[in-house]
Amino acid sequence: PLVLGVESSCDETGFGLVSEGVLLGQGLASSASQHADFGGVVPEIAARAHLDAAVPTLHLALEDAGVELGDITHVAVTSGPGLATAVHVGLAAAKAVAWSLDKPLYGVHHLAGHAAADTLEHGPLPERSIVLIVSGGHTSILAVGDLVRDPIEHLGDTLDDAAGEAFDKVARLLGLGYPGGPAISRAAVGGDPTAFRFPRAMLRSGDAPFVFSFSGLKTAVARTVERIERAGESVPVADIAASFEQAVVDVLVTKALRAVRERNLSTLVIVGGVAANARLRAVAQERCDAAGIELRIPPPALCTDNGAMIGAVGDLLVRFGADPSGLRIAADPSAVLHGAQLPLPG
Ligand code: ATP
Ligand code: MG
Ligand code: FE
Repeated sequence: PLVLGVESSCDETGFGLVSEGVLLGQGLASSASQHADFGGVVPEIAARAHLDAAVPTLHLALEDAGVELGDITHVAVTSGPGLATAVHVGLAAAKAVAWSLDKPLYGVHHLAGHAAADTLEHGPLPERSIVLIVSGGHTSILAVGDLVRDPIEHLGDTLDDAAGEAFDKVARLLGLGYPGGPAISRAAVGGDPTAFRFPRAMLRSGDAPFVFSFSGLKTAVARTVERIERAGESVPVADIAASFEQAVVDVLVTKALRAVRERNLSTLVIVGGVAANARLRAVAQERCDAAGIELRIPPPALCTDNGAMIGAVGDLLVRFGADPSGLRIAADPSAVLHGAQLPLPG
């Protein structure tokens, strides 16, 4: 198969071409800069940008892979979760390609795409693993088997803000702009991660070992900044950014490793936009090495949204023999992750 993956659930327009687990090429456009003034993604602006970017970005992907439109054998597309207006544009583009080529179309869960991104770099997932998804809208610890065959088990999610959302909100209150993750990361360089002891919510919580909460952390950073400003001192942005990062990373890695141990597994996979974070990657590597756990994290460019990861799921579905979703599939903006395909078959 030669699978075209299409992604448009947030502010990235992505097309990727995947065959037999191999990424052949991709095209990516982002409207992030158009949202910067608003401190977050504006759905209507994102949708409009997807519309402008769709055809040129598809052509970039074809060129990058060195294939023709007519070589595509299957189309896979994010049909949820995401911003409804944004998802609709990618869905329309994918339907147009599938219909015009008379090829099967598969709806894909965006978060299964994030997990599948890792297979493009490190090969098939092991029989069972713990997957930590840390992105702009989600923070979940999952027990995962075969991505397309086995149901996905949620061990825990966030009660309030997602990890990426915390980065975005803290960046905003530090005046660092959007997207917040990369901005905080840059600001934290040279900062002292032990300068401020920000709260690690629910770190030792016995009855919710895999549940997260990040809104208190965001408030703690806000209070700290207010206190320093009231005292008429200058805000030590690097120290605050580094200490904030350290608090997030500490909770994420501690809970993820706890899940690996509790389930007697040996592999941890970390995916989603926040997995691009250098401190998270370094701390996770250090603690996994110490615990004898294999750590898999996709390269940073495959952590944030892209079309290749959706193509990777499509390629798995095709090789598994899944039934196509058909041209009538609808967007499902708040889809919960139970399986890779949307809607779930059967
Ligand atoms: P979801 O996947 O939950 O639907 P999304 O698609 O908007 O949400 P992603 O593209 O996976 O999210 O990730 C974007 C998030 O990742 C943003 O919150 C961004 O701030 C964060 N992020 C990106 N790069 C980094 C980084 N280097 N460090 C920390 N966070 C980062
Ligand atoms: Mg984005
Ligand atoms: Fe995402």
